[in-house]
Amino acid sequence: MNYLVGLTGGIGSGKSTVAGMFAELGARTIDTDLIAHQLTKADGEAIDAIRACFGEHYIAADGSLDRGAMRKLVFANPEEKQRLETILHPLILAQARQQAASPTDAPYTLVVVPLLFESGRYRDWLQRIITVDCSEEAQISRAMQRSSLDEAAIRAIMAQQVRRSERTKLADEVIHNDGSLDDLKLQVVGIHRRLSSMADESD
Ligand code: ATP
Repeated sequence: MNYLVGLTGGIGSGKSTVAGMFAELGARTIDTDLIAHQLTKADGEAIDAIRACFGEHYIAADGSLDRGAMRKLVFANPEEKQRLETILHPLILAQARQQAASPTDAPYTLVVVPLLFESGRYRDWLQRIITVDCSEEAQISRAMQRSSLDEAAIRAIMAQQVRRSERTKLADEVIHNDGSLDDLKLQVVGIHRRLSSMADESD
């Protein structure tokens, strides 16, 4: 059986960086953000349901989700956000499960789920959960580095996410990302070894 490991963490904590390091070491990775993107591209599987639920205004001229319009809507309206998630989350999980079911030579599969603890759908499916943790200041400066969001927008997103303390309490392993990329890599190498032998034992 394929050993399934979840990777989560708050905005800008370093999930993609860590996932890249695990992949370099030989893990298979499944990225739920990428799946969400594919579901909402032109003619993506979620487009018809989004059109039916929210209307044409949220579909761009090329037939993909109008991300800007949708972001504006859900940011200010928790119920609308909930409606969008009700459409997307089951489809994302189904896709992730399908990808995970395909054969692999990798010792284990890492499933990157930014809102793993918020969604509540993944815990039973995954054998082990890792969270990437760093200070809020680092989260903000890193998130600003790789997106066009300003500090207020990032803080607002952080306020909607599970608190750091909760995430680290719920995870099986915590990767601390307040140091250098070399520090990060050292932790990833250690966890990779452990996961590989846990996966071996679970066979
Ligand atoms: P998001 O939640 O926004 O998708 P993320 O959790 O996937 O973000 P990354 O994209 O991995 O985070 O990292 C955010 C930015 O911070 C990237 O530009 C990355 O290169 C940088 N970064 C991550 N960790 C470190 C580190 N230890 N030292 C320096 N830069 C880092």
